Amino acid sequence: MKHHIPLFASRFFHRLGVWGVCVSLLMPVAPVQAQLNSSRLPNLGDGAEVPLGVERRLGESIAREIYRDPDYLDDPVLGDYLQSIWQPLLAAARQRGELTPELEQQFAWDVALIRERSINAFALPGGYLGVHLGLISAVSSGDELASVLAHELSHVTQRHIARMIAQQGRQGPMVMGAMILGMLAASRTPSASGMSAANAVMVGGQAAAIQSQLNFSRDMEREADRVGYGVMTEAGYEPQGFVTMFEKLQQASRLNDNGSFPYLRSHPMTTERISDAQARQQLLPKRSAAPTTAMHAMMSARAQVLANPGIDVLRTIAMQAHTSTLAAASKAKQAGVLYGATLAEMKQRNFAEARQHATRLQALGGFDANAQRVVRLLAAELALASGDPAQAVSLLESKVSVVATHDRATCIQLAQSRVATRKPAQGKVAAGDLSLWLSQHPRDATAWLVQASAYELQGDGLRAIRAQAEARAMELDYGAAVDRFKAAQMLAHQMASEGKLDRAGHMEASIIDARLRELERLRREQALERGIN
Ligand SMILES: [Zn+2]
Repeated sequence: MKHHIPLFASRFFHRLGVWGVCVSLLMPVAPVQAQLNSSRLPNLGDGAEVPLGVERRLGESIAREIYRDPDYLDDPVLGDYLQSIWQPLLAAARQRGELTPELEQQFAWDVALIRERSINAFALPGGYLGVHLGLISAVSSGDELASVLAHELSHVTQRHIARMIAQQGRQGPMVMGAMILGMLAASRTPSASGMSAANAVMVGGQAAAIQSQLNFSRDMEREADRVGYGVMTEAGYEPQGFVTMFEKLQQASRLNDNGSFPYLRSHPMTTERISDAQARQQLLPKRSAAPTTAMHAMMSARAQVLANPGIDVLRTIAMQAHTSTLAAASKAKQAGVLYGATLAEMKQRNFAEARQHATRLQALGGFDANAQRVVRLLAAELALASGDPAQAVSLLESKVSVVATHDRATCIQLAQSRVATRKPAQGKVAAGDLSLWLSQHPRDATAWLVQASAYELQGDGLRAIRAQAEARAMELDYGAAVDRFKAAQMLAHQMASEGKLDRAGHMEASIIDARLRELERLRREQALERGIN
C-alpha cells in the first residue's frame, strides 16, 4: 500500500473556468483582484505581489509529493529528450528578457515526467513543470512538443501563478498547495488508482469545485499563447508546430475528448484563442507540418510503452513490426515502430523477439548522432534487462566523454550496468564517474541513488548512506534525509572509535556533519511553514 497521496493523473492545476466570478464569490475582493477585474489587464506579466521565494517554497511543497508518487518517472532517455527541447526554450526566454536572472536563479525550472497515458502538461508554482507521457506519444514532432512547453513556460515567466496565489492569498499559500494536491489526487485515472468509479465521480465533483478557484483567466491563456509562440520561434522551432498542435487540440475539443485530453480542461479552446491562432497562422508562409524525425518517432514510441498501457497494447505495438507495409514506410516511421516493438517485447520479457527487432532497428542505419545514441542505449538497456550487464557496459563504455557531453542517460545507464555486474572494481569506476557527474549536477537524485549502490558494492557503507541521504534531500524529503545523515554520522563515530576511519573517511564525516546541520535547518523551516499556514 502506498500511503502518500496519489497524484497526477489526468487533470490539472491550471485548467478551468472563469476564475474572476468564482473567486469573488468566495472571498472579499482583495486589492490585486480589484485591479485584475478593473480593466483590460494592460500588463499581466508584472508579477503581482508574491515574492519569488514564497512561490518557490509553495512549488517545493507540491514537488515533494510528486517525487514520492509512484507515477513520477525519472527515465533518463526520455528526460534527455525533453531537456533537448526545454533548454533551448529557456535560452530563448532568457534572450527575450522574459526569464530574468532573478527568476532563473530563484525558481527550479524542473520538468517532471508523469507516467500517464492522457495528454497533459502543466506548470506549478516556483518553476516546477510536468509532462504526461501521453503528450510525448501524441505529438508528431519536437516542434509540437515545444509549442506546449513554451506555453507552460510562459505561464511561469509571466507570473500568472503568482497572480493566482495572490488571489488565494487570504487562505495562505500552503492551503493553496493542499488544494492543488487534493485536486491532483482526485483527478487520478480511476483504473490506475484502484479507485471505484463512484468514488471517482464524487471526488471528481469536489475537484471541479476546486478547479473553478485555480483556473488561469482567459487573458492569461491568450498571453501564454502569444509569449509562448514568440519563445518557441525564437528558439528555432518551426512555427508550423504551434499551428498543427493547436489544430490537434481543436479537433479533440470538437470531439469533446476530455478523457484523453485533460489538457483541454486546463486550456479551453476559447474563441479568442482560436482567432488569435488563426491570425498568427495567416502571417506564416503556407507550409506542411514539421516532419516527424526518427528521433521523435523513437521517443514517442518509448513514451507509449513506458506509460504502462497494458499487455494487449504492448502486443499490438510489438505486432506492428511484423506488418508487411512497414518496409514501405518512411525511415523515421520504421525506426519508431522497431524501437517500440523492441521495448514492448522487452517489457514482456520476450528477449529473443526484442533482440530481433533491435537488430532490424540498427540495420536501418543512416541515423544522426542523437538517434544513434538512443539506439545504442536501447541495445544496452536490453542487454541489462536480459541479464547481461557486462555486454551493456561494453556497449556504453567506449562513450567515455559522457560527463563532458552532459549525456545523462549514458552516464546513468552505464553506472547502473557496472553496478549490476556485482564486481567491486566496476563499482569503483561507476562511483568515480558519478562523483564527477554529481559535482556538476548535484540535484540529480537518481544519480545519487545509483552512486549509493556503487559504494555498497565496494563495501563503503559510509559513503553509501550519505549518497542515500543526498538522494532524499534532492527529492525535498528533508525528514528522511536527516534520518539518513544521522545514520551516517553514527556509523562514522563508530568507525572512528574502532580506528577504522582513514583521512578520507574523516573528511567524509565532516561533510556529513555539515550536511546534517543544513538539512536540519531545512526541515525546521519546512515544519514551521506547515505550522503557520
Ligand atoms: Zn495555459
